[in-house]
Amino acid sequence: MLESGNVENAAEEADLLCGHCEQEVPHGSQACPMCGQPLQVNPAQKLDRPWTVLVLLFGATGVLGLPVLWASRSFSIRNKIVLSLAVTIYTAALVAAAWLAIRNAWNAWHEAFPTQ
Ligand SMILES: [Zn+2]
Repeated sequence: MLESGNVENAAEEADLLCGHCEQEVPHGSQACPMCGQPLQVNPAQKLDRPWTVLVLLFGATGVLGLPVLWASRSFSIRNKIVLSLAVTIYTAALVAAAWLAIRNAWNAWHEAFPTQ
């Protein structure tokens, strides 16, 4: 299983993206090294925190939250791909676990009360 700590670390290491050319920009830069545009954080980007997206993905919506992840500017393309795979595996594992639990309960019920 995926360790949630690893996911949080990956998010913290994500580079900022230039709002103008969408290239990755090192933390602490005053301007984009690719296109020279000054880096500005608008109010929408302030709400777009990595942990908010991660909580949504892994705590609430699963794969249904992937559009939010891909719309987010808080993650690089590489991290978006990795997180998409992770949340897909995570959701599939949850569905598989739920299915096995239901099937085991069903089997146990029929072993305890076999139909004649
Ligand atoms: Zn740029």
